Amino acid sequence: MFHRKVLALSSLAALGACSGAVHQLPTLDQSQLSLAQTEVAAETSPQRHAVSDDEVLAILKSALGRIRPSAGQLCREMAVGTCDWRFVALKDRSLNASVGPDGAIAVNRGIVEYADNEDQVAMVIAHEIGHQIANHVVTGQRNRAVGALIGAVLLGAAGAVASYRSPYAAEVTSTAMQAGGDIGGAIGRISFSKEQEREADYLAAVILYRSGLDLDKARGFLVIMARASGRKESGMLDTHPAGPERVAAWDKAVEEVRASNGALPKRK
Ligand SMILES: [Zn+2]
Repeated sequence: MFHRKVLALSSLAALGACSGAVHQLPTLDQSQLSLAQTEVAAETSPQRHAVSDDEVLAILKSALGRIRPSAGQLCREMAVGTCDWRFVALKDRSLNASVGPDGAIAVNRGIVEYADNEDQVAMVIAHEIGHQIANHVVTGQRNRAVGALIGAVLLGAAGAVASYRSPYAAEVTSTAMQAGGDIGGAIGRISFSKEQEREADYLAAVILYRSGLDLDKARGFLVIMARASGRKESGMLDTHPAGPERVAAWDKAVEEVRASNGALPKRK
């Protein structure tokens, strides 16, 4: 009964989402897709790395600290979405991250367990920030999302990664920890359109590029997810596209981002 209710809530959230992207996104060509398919098929199975709760929080904080200034600047430049984000780390070991109303962003422990480096963790966070700054999370979803993840267990004593109200702050404050408790209950399984997912990846590429992170290292995580989704191990399957298409789209986006020196694509 409970499950049916959650499903109903999710589909309502999906219907409520506005399905478009803010920007014109590059189109994929078949040869890039074929290359990505071959690459993913040849990849070994992803492995979890053993990390302590403290390490998970430290990696999340560090990755966030590196992208936060550029992400904030990009958000103000676009001026369409939420630029005031609240982060929480969830104990959930599945390969997923999610966003909720009012700038809420949750990253599962599983992301850090599977990531090979901090650039990959930063890409996942930047992707979720991308949903927020492109205003993919519409306010109408607030009530539907609340409660959809009731029972989500926060990592650590309180689980908040940081409040990061100031772009350069990297402190976990007791206020942030308080906020974390609220966010865990507020984040739902909001579904986005394929186009919005591609836009979030594109914006992640812009954020990483402007932050001086390694786009090629970050790309490895999309391969890991594509591989995991093939093996049906990925929680990302529920809320994010994770196949070779996503890898190919990332390559195309990175090409454009490098050529434009980190500029945004044209608006629709
Ligand atoms: Zn997404």
